[in-house]
Amino acid sequence: MCGFAKRELEPVIKTENLEVVYNLGKSNEFRALRSVNVDIYPEEYIILFGPSGCGKSTLLYCFLGALPYTFGKLSVKGEDPYQYNSEELVHFQQKTIGIVYQAFYLIPSLSVMDNVSLPLIFAGMSKQDREKRALSLLRRFGVEAQANKLPNSLSGGQQQRVAVSRALVNDPEILLADEPVGNLDAISTEEVMNSLSEVNRRDKKTVILVTHDAKFIPYAHRTFYMTYGKVEREVFNPEIEAIKVVEKGKTIMTEIEKLARIYPYSTVDELRVKSIVNYLTQKLTFEQLERLEKAVVKIIEGKIHEADFKRMLLEKFERGGVGVSTSAGEKMTKQMEKIMRESLAVKRFRKRLVEEEMTGTEMSRYVKHLRTYLLDEYEGQVSLGQLRRLERAVEERISGSAKKEEFELFLGTSYDKGGVGFHWRTARNMTLYLEKLIAQGTRI
Ligand code: ADP
Ligand code: MG
Repeated sequence: MCGFAKRELEPVIKTENLEVVYNLGKSNEFRALRSVNVDIYPEEYIILFGPSGCGKSTLLYCFLGALPYTFGKLSVKGEDPYQYNSEELVHFQQKTIGIVYQAFYLIPSLSVMDNVSLPLIFAGMSKQDREKRALSLLRRFGVEAQANKLPNSLSGGQQQRVAVSRALVNDPEILLADEPVGNLDAISTEEVMNSLSEVNRRDKKTVILVTHDAKFIPYAHRTFYMTYGKVEREVFNPEIEAIKVVEKGKTIMTEIEKLARIYPYSTVDELRVKSIVNYLTQKLTFEQLERLEKAVVKIIEGKIHEADFKRMLLEKFERGGVGVSTSAGEKMTKQMEKIMRESLAVKRFRKRLVEEEMTGTEMSRYVKHLRTYLLDEYEGQVSLGQLRRLERAVEERISGSAKKEEFELFLGTSYDKGGVGFHWRTARNMTLYLEKLIAQGTRI
């Protein structure tokens, strides 16, 4: 089983307690960024995500060198752009950062070609070379045929691809995009989003996208969720290989984080409830699920005990209950009891792990606990060798150095081939159960 930690890189952008206060000291003073700590690595695709007004654009313009921060530290490629004089700043922006906006900001009186090649004038390039470079980008993004037209005669999607060409004409390392598809129809949106992905994957540029639309989250390596000027959480994309090295124990892709992508505006507690409900059943109607969620919330919050929980489950739907069969209700209550008990233990351990206070002995006790919970679910017998391998797998999973899929694969691989040697169905069930336990104990 391989972990995904690879090279330790220097971040290309890093902030420390970055704050932006608009109208400092005035009656309309407004703290738009609050103690923002982020690090962005070369070749990453990052999304700044959150509702309108949460400070996404403010943070993006800070990176660009266009909006001086009020407190804290910022480094872009190892330097603070606000230390530069205006000439140095222009030079820095040319070679390091390109940006595209929702409103394109192309110059209406210049042809598409001139719009794209204009920044090269400041780089002192000959007209012929400028046009060659501009044309190659226009071709690349499928708007070559529009080169001699005026921007306003193009569709929105075409204009945005022209803007992307212009942003890349100086070959900067970082591409910023502020709601670049906010005004586009579905087809143009897809074209522009694909162009940005290609800039990231093929050209190996760092891409930072600002959006309030959750459907774009799968494009990024990591998403920073923002609310009220703060970066509330950072979520890795489980579907693509991470670039940022995952710190041991700190960031682990749990089901909670996956659910956070489906329900971006739910709180962590709400997600925990969804995770459990999803475990207890998949066969109930939407109305029944809602009632079940309410019952799970009550039991998690300690407001009711198992007996009341069971009563709520079995009560007829017309009388305000969930309305499941006796056998289903009893089974769910048992599962609930077990997961409450076990996740409490996991929560205690994970707290220590995250706070880096866990000793080696505690770690192996934690692993043993989890292993016991998993094996209690298992009818068969295991050998000592299988037991050791299972423990190793659990340790790698909880420390974040193995993904869920790798864990499952390792459990299901035959013993001779180096795995634990469980039946694939056992491997799947144990993986699901472990994820459930970890999810209940994770703070994100
Ligand atoms: P987002 O891009 O997430 O929609 P912004 O970064 O544009 O949010 O703005 C964050 C907050 O700061 C908003 O409440 C906005 O009203 C406020 N704000 C933005 N620009 C200014 C400004 N120049 N002066 C005062 N307040 C501002
Ligand atoms: Mg904005």
